[in-house]
Amino acid sequence: MRSLDYIFKPRSIAVVGASRRIGSIGREILHNLVEYDYRGKVFPVNPKADFILSIKAFPTVSSIPDPVDLAIIVVPRDQVLGVVDDCGKKGVKGLLVITAGFSETGEEGRRIEQELDERVERYGMRMIGPNSMGIINTEIAVHMDGTFAPTLPLVGRIGFLSQSGALGIAILNMARQHDIGFSFFVSLGNKANVSNNDLLEYWEDDAQTDLILMYLESFGNPRRFMPIARRISKRKPIVVVKSGRTLAGALAVSSHTGALVSRQGMDIAIDALLEQTGVIRLNTVEEMFDLTLGFSKNPLPRGDRVGILTNAGGPAILATDAAINLGLKVPRLSERTRAELRHLLPVEAAIQNPVDMTPKPDRSKYEACARLLLEDDEIDSLLVISVPPIMVSAMDIIMGIEGLRREFSKPILAVVMAPEDFFEELNEKYPGHMAIYRFPEPAVRALAAMEHYRRWRDKPLGSVNLFPVQTRAAEDLLEAVRREKRSQLTTPEALRLLECYGIPVAHSVVAASAGEVVDAAKGLRYPVVLKAIAPDLVHKTEAGGVVTDIRTPEELGAAALDMGETVSRTRPDRTSSSAPLGFLVQEFVRGGREVIIGMLQDPSFGPLVMFGLGGIYVETLRDVVFRVPPLTDLDAQEMILQIRGFRLLEGVRGEPPIDLQALAEVLQRFSQMLQELPEVAEIDINPFLVFPDAQNFCAVDARVRLAEES
Ligand code: ADP
Ligand code: MG
Repeated sequence: MRSLDYIFKPRSIAVVGASRRIGSIGREILHNLVEYDYRGKVFPVNPKADFILSIKAFPTVSSIPDPVDLAIIVVPRDQVLGVVDDCGKKGVKGLLVITAGFSETGEEGRRIEQELDERVERYGMRMIGPNSMGIINTEIAVHMDGTFAPTLPLVGRIGFLSQSGALGIAILNMARQHDIGFSFFVSLGNKANVSNNDLLEYWEDDAQTDLILMYLESFGNPRRFMPIARRISKRKPIVVVKSGRTLAGALAVSSHTGALVSRQGMDIAIDALLEQTGVIRLNTVEEMFDLTLGFSKNPLPRGDRVGILTNAGGPAILATDAAINLGLKVPRLSERTRAELRHLLPVEAAIQNPVDMTPKPDRSKYEACARLLLEDDEIDSLLVISVPPIMVSAMDIIMGIEGLRREFSKPILAVVMAPEDFFEELNEKYPGHMAIYRFPEPAVRALAAMEHYRRWRDKPLGSVNLFPVQTRAAEDLLEAVRREKRSQLTTPEALRLLECYGIPVAHSVVAASAGEVVDAAKGLRYPVVLKAIAPDLVHKTEAGGVVTDIRTPEELGAAALDMGETVSRTRPDRTSSSAPLGFLVQEFVRGGREVIIGMLQDPSFGPLVMFGLGGIYVETLRDVVFRVPPLTDLDAQEMILQIRGFRLLEGVRGEPPIDLQALAEVLQRFSQMLQELPEVAEIDINPFLVFPDAQNFCAVDARVRLAEES
């Protein structure tokens, strides 16, 4: 048995804190286990009762004569540690701690939770909770309802993990109305021992589970989540509803389950993470139902081309618009399909895609037309729309289409714009029916998500390249800065750091004073650019510290004298203005396109790589994308493709495209630098100039700040 099998597939369960009192958790759990016909043995544990619910009770776990795989603990908080010791003595391997009052309540609770986890580890156990609302395994051979929820989920192939127990149980209830079933339900509670990641890995090979659904408030260890999710996503879709999108939401979350939430940059990091791992992120529970309905009842589409069959124009137009907006296609049907439709349908029908059969088609018409669309090689999935016609039963039509699901391996989704009771009757009479929606848009959204996932799944994983770089030289450079008790690197130092990582920089020289500038620049080709250097000079242009397009040595000398004065005058810290300024003379680089390569520190994710258009575009358009390092070659390519201004890099109005491959390599080198130099707290290259010929690529400016030493 795997360690989590003791929890999810136990052969025997002790309910510690079982009770007779109606309405108490200790009674409801025991009752649910029995009521759902759990296939193993159940032992109520309660020192004050001989039997509970007609089952013989035991005073302690260790006094149970049979082996116990799982103990479900519902005793008051201050008795939990004692019970765990007793379980340890007995050799119990799995714990489900329902009891609350731990890290979600404050310091004292956090301490006890830590002690709890330490003991669990010492005894070689695994534990769900504390503060869990329970677990369910619907598998026939186990049939365990270890919750105190009033209703049971339908049996299905979705593993559902919820960080909020109450919401999770509400979702289970509502899922019934959507005819969505589950293999597992797990309320993880405070995740003191078993984490999201553990559960993902448990479900990775689980034969009962095809889709993983998570309602999350925090990610636990996002760095660990990343490789696990990336790997498992390739086999099973992972859908995440992540709350805490807004700051207020995040604060509510942190007082809710004791999760420490990073309060800024949070969403950027999470979106980047999920994008890279193929995880499907949703914002609302409603969307979650829409998507899981589509996923759980269909094969994945093989492409983005949707066929739409309808008996009313309006909803088909809505569906078409939604499909196009979400990146799907509603293509022309093949010649042959159109000819056959023409033959089948009245003259007023539209035999284009969408196929509008006009108001009166019956079951056999729907079925025949749907079959034609499914047979058409131009179509990857089918959306059937029915505005319930007079005289014909929508139920009948659906049943006709239903038969086609077994014949074709293409997704078939239906939209029936009917009142609630239609769906109630449908679920009652035909459980396990096809995915049916009340409106076109959610159905299309589900299809689009399925296609998006299919694409992600089918593309290669990419690989993280490690370039031969000068890590030692980079570290020495940073060390030298630290010795001077500085955290901000000067511009030449920052550029030097980039060079250590093979990121090209503009030819430049340094001069210690205005008088030495012309001599220093002897080896450079004019025109040149002059910049002031000082450790605390972060925004050079604002301080009058940048002059571009200097044509002659004379001009350069004059500019240096001028700059020395202006910069001293405008620098905020007047007392340091007497400190000698240095100067940087750079070749003036013409004709490049400016991009920015930078980093964002996320408190829980660590550094993220940022890429976007540089110059004025950064501030005004915020056209930037983020990725969690280490970047794979594919990550780097996608970052470039995903900025809105990508066309500008590709070349507009006949300009040649820049070397995208070389730019992707620069991003990967940058990512490697972040990985290898964790003491870098902030860094950006702005601008990095890119060209059609990678030979000309160069950074002309960079800022680097080191983390304060702790
Ligand atoms: P800062 O960002 O501190 O104000 P920069 O060194 O980035 O200073 O210079 C400001 C701008 O001047 C850059 O964004 C770029 O447009 C231009 N520039 C700077 N150096 C060069 C150079 N060597 N060649 C061409 N343009 C340059
Ligand atoms: Mg700059």
